[in-house]
Amino acid sequence: MAELEGKVAVVTGGASGIGEATVRLFVAEGARVVIADMQRDRGEALAAELGAPATFVACEVRQEDQVKATIDAAVGIWGRLDCLFNNAGFGGVLGPVEDIPADEFDMTFDVLVRGVFLGMKHAVPVMKGQGGGSIINTGSIAGVAAGRGPLVYSAAKAAVVHLSKAAAMELGEHSIRCNAVCPGYIATPLALNTVGRPDSLIEERIDGYAERQPIPRVGRPDDIANMALYLASDRSSFVTGQAIVVDGGAVTGVMWSDQKPVYKSYHPIKVYNPDRA
Ligand code: NAD
Repeated sequence: MAELEGKVAVVTGGASGIGEATVRLFVAEGARVVIADMQRDRGEALAAELGAPATFVACEVRQEDQVKATIDAAVGIWGRLDCLFNNAGFGGVLGPVEDIPADEFDMTFDVLVRGVFLGMKHAVPVMKGQGGGSIINTGSIAGVAAGRGPLVYSAAKAAVVHLSKAAAMELGEHSIRCNAVCPGYIATPLALNTVGRPDSLIEERIDGYAERQPIPRVGRPDDIANMALYLASDRSSFVTGQAIVVDGGAVTGVMWSDQKPVYKSYHPIKVYNPDRA
């Protein structure tokens, strides 16, 4: 039987990359899905391709009325909401800390953190009313280890991780689970700077992606969609408050042999030999 038969999901950022792959997988597994995104053309095209189990709602996740309307659309069309995947995101403001304008810091947090909060705020009453649900928030390896993304983005993703854990504490008694999925390097328009351009450009820019983590292949949107499927399904009914890293091992560590040769300037290197001590 399909894993999500009978379930209804909202996927923000569902028109592209990780969100799009998740929408496709959820529909293939029997769910009905609201694709929520600010990219109308892509979102409408995806909904048209998938047919009756999918619908598109234009949504800017910074705007509370639009987020509420997205949740209302799921309930209005299909009568329930079993899974909210708060996934919309972007790279945010760049630059060294002393050059970052305060309003662009706020804007980055508004999309990445406020957007997630608003989704949870409006999904939780519905889920409480029906006796449970699964909230999945997209964090990042940048939110669990420093130096894996731009400064403000990293701080925002760390906030998403903790927001997910704190919400899980509050929501467990209502059988609402809340987890963060933390992708590593995934070949998407965001990561390869092709937003608004044809997806075919991704393959042209992918050089070096296979070497970015111990598993020597390119990270793909399906890698994250598969984790979202697990978290949305009843198979994960005892899993909550987790930040689940899906990164091919990227943040686990760096092989000692790949690290900078720190001993180079020491001479001679004395190898400890207990027989000669
Ligand atoms: P993507 O650009 O392919 O998809 C992001 C989607 O979010 C787009 O469709 C975009 O229109 C939408 N979006 C952006 N801002 C929005 C807003 N304010 N309101 C509504 N929709 C908005 O990128 P992706 O890589 O699939 O990103 C999905 C999530 O994964 C993001 O939260 C991102 O931070 C996270 N992530 C990505 C990677 C990676 O390497 N690709 C790594 C870690 C985390």
